[in-house]
Amino acid sequence: MTVVGIVPAGGSGERLGADRPKAFVVCAGRPMVEWSLEALSSACSRIVVAAPPSHVRPGWVEGGPSRSASVRNALAAAPEATVVVVHDAARPLVTRDLVARCLHNLSGVDGVIAASPVSDTIHVSSAEHLIEHTPDRATLWAAHTPQVFRADVLRRALEDGDSATDEAALVAAAGGTVRLIEGPSDNIKVTTPTDLRLAEALLRDRC
Ligand code: C5P
Repeated sequence: MTVVGIVPAGGSGERLGADRPKAFVVCAGRPMVEWSLEALSSACSRIVVAAPPSHVRPGWVEGGPSRSASVRNALAAAPEATVVVVHDAARPLVTRDLVARCLHNLSGVDGVIAASPVSDTIHVSSAEHLIEHTPDRATLWAAHTPQVFRADVLRRALEDGDSATDEAALVAAAGGTVRLIEGPSDNIKVTTPTDLRLAEALLRDRC
């Protein structure tokens, strides 16, 4: 089994309002992407980061116009992979243990993703912001990363699927089986300045 890490880091992070792409904003003393690289390093033979053109380093690739395009570019640069660990650069609180748990649970399925049962009630709205229906909360999970897949299944799903907000949706839509495992609630995604402050505080607590 050859496990390759894929880190989509090609977003601009407009909602963060920083002076550089989000993955390269300093978070608890390091560019945010470095936390993810450290957490993935022990499980992966190498890691391909999809970065904005201005931030590409040797061994990395350029991101694309969408998250799926960035993942597709990174996967194309890792033909040797039999298993891939996709992890957002925007989730710096990922741990080695969570990556290992996802990999450990891959037996018998095509993918495993870290997720958490939602605690809010979720409404589906019309374009006019009127509630159309309210799914049963007990069936709803918020998808996080890491997301671990058999590489051939992800390659096929990315060929068929155009764009999605995570790879698990593409794999499931292509008929693949994807298992949800409950990840820690502090594995937050940094989107806003408030998220960045929270991530910094949580990372400093760990040190
Ligand atoms: O936009 P969002 O925060 O959901 O992005 C999740 C991850 O996908 C981030 O790490 C971001 O850098 C990455 N991304 C990418 N290429 C894009 C858009 C987002 O690699 N075109």
